[in-house]
Amino acid sequence: MPVAPATPAAELARLVGPEQVIVDSSITDSYVRDWTGRFVGSTPAVVRPRATDEVATVLAWCHEHGVAVVPQGGNTGLVGGGVPLEGEVVLSLRGLRSISLPEGDDRRLLAGAGATLADVGDEAARRGRAYAVDLAARATATVGGMVATNAGGLHVLRWGGTRQQLVGVEAVLADGRVLSTLRGLDKDNTGYDLPQLLCGSEGTLAVVTAALVRLRPAVRRRQVCMVGFDSVETAVDAALACCDEVPSLSAVELVLHGGVALVMDEFGLPAPLATPATAYLVIELVRTHGPATTTLSDDDLVAELASVVDRSPGVGDVAVAPSDAAAQRLWQYRELHTDAINRVGVPHKLDVTFPAGALAAAVEELPAVVGAVAPRAQVWMFGHVGDGNLHVNVTGVSAGDEAVDEAVLRYVAERGGSISAEHGIGRAKARWLHLNRSQVELDTFAAIKGALDPHRILNPNVLLR
Ligand SMILES: Cc1cc2nc3c(=O)[nH]c(=O)nc-3n(C[C@H](O)[C@H](O)[C@H](O)COP(=O)(O)OP(=O)(O)OC[C@H]3O[C@@H](n4cnc5c(N)ncnc54)[C@H](O)[C@@H]3O)c2cc1C
Repeated sequence: MPVAPATPAAELARLVGPEQVIVDSSITDSYVRDWTGRFVGSTPAVVRPRATDEVATVLAWCHEHGVAVVPQGGNTGLVGGGVPLEGEVVLSLRGLRSISLPEGDDRRLLAGAGATLADVGDEAARRGRAYAVDLAARATATVGGMVATNAGGLHVLRWGGTRQQLVGVEAVLADGRVLSTLRGLDKDNTGYDLPQLLCGSEGTLAVVTAALVRLRPAVRRRQVCMVGFDSVETAVDAALACCDEVPSLSAVELVLHGGVALVMDEFGLPAPLATPATAYLVIELVRTHGPATTTLSDDDLVAELASVVDRSPGVGDVAVAPSDAAAQRLWQYRELHTDAINRVGVPHKLDVTFPAGALAAAVEELPAVVGAVAPRAQVWMFGHVGDGNLHVNVTGVSAGDEAVDEAVLRYVAERGGSISAEHGIGRAKARWLHLNRSQVELDTFAAIKGALDPHRILNPNVLLR
């Protein structure tokens, strides 16, 4: 195992040019601090390659000299996986931003790792198509980060997460060799599926430099509604009924009274419905065929939803967005949760999944689970309820106090859930990976890591510590 040199910055600057290597702490500050402010580290250098061959040069040198690297995209990750908590070099992929379409194929798009989700969505729209994954950090989250975390988002129940969009990747291995699987075939059973292995690997196996992704049909009509419920249980039941019975469903998101009130306070928004509710669903319905309309009002879509909502118990007020602007206003009550919670304090973010039958009870029970170990903590919950995915946010606990994380993640695992629904394990949950993964699985993970990154230079403190 090589011994890392004390000052890698000068050598890295020689390799890729001094303008691509930042050491000034007033600039590196935003690269060493995560989006929540919970994870703050330090780095000897931020390296910003402009092309795949520069990534390869940097990694080959780091491999040879045993220099640990943290790949970073938009730095919107929520589990401390993209920041240098042990003094690693930061490899920022934001400079690899090109987007192109494969010749003669308008159903695929080749995006550089640094292209943002918004860049990809805009380019897809220019081609009359859509990229299926969408999430609130769309202006900043990058393709590389989304592949590395297998990002989910708002439309998983309709189109799947990043894995289901991924056709191929270009990536640089730890030793600097470039792996390219960009043939773009729908059927290709020629051995191991390497793009799928890298998807969700959180920068521990290779650095993604580009991704070939599927484009879906563009949305022609869309309807957004917000429905109030008298309990979490009735809201969850209605959400599951929508998943089963509403073919045009594209998103169904759960928010709670406390979170909606917080968003209203923090952003000066009016109440979404005339009568406050205990729980709310934000529901989006889409059609990808038929004529496009300039207004969102679509009576057929509303009727499809009404057929389920009308017979759901516990329904309160309903708001139906009559315009695009009104739809965006309704979405704010869900999408501004993350920002609003960050304003209350540094959150512990525990993104988890439950089996459908355990979700409503978990929402009721988790405040007491947290209260037992942190009586002064506040719990904020919301999530992609159609996927059984709950974002449990806890404020009022110091960043390093892990008692709350331990209590919540054990509760989840005991109920057959996953301790990471979509954000990954990162640094935040590495201690608890064994709750969901057997020793045989962990040994297999370690064998794969050892084969691809024998000197452990790629995100060595993430996922498999
Ligand atoms: C407001 C808000 C809303 C969010 N909503 C969702 C949501 O609905 N669904 C969801 O899944 N996530 C969500 N997230 C989390 C986050 O946006 C996603 O995890 C996203 O995929 C991270 O992309 P990024 O470019 O910011 O990655 P970063 O934060 O920079 O990195 C994340 C991880 O990927 C690794 N990585 C980054 N780039 C590369 C690369 N090129 N090659 C190899 N490894 C790399 C990093 O080392 C790190 O481990 C949200 C975050 C915010 C702030």
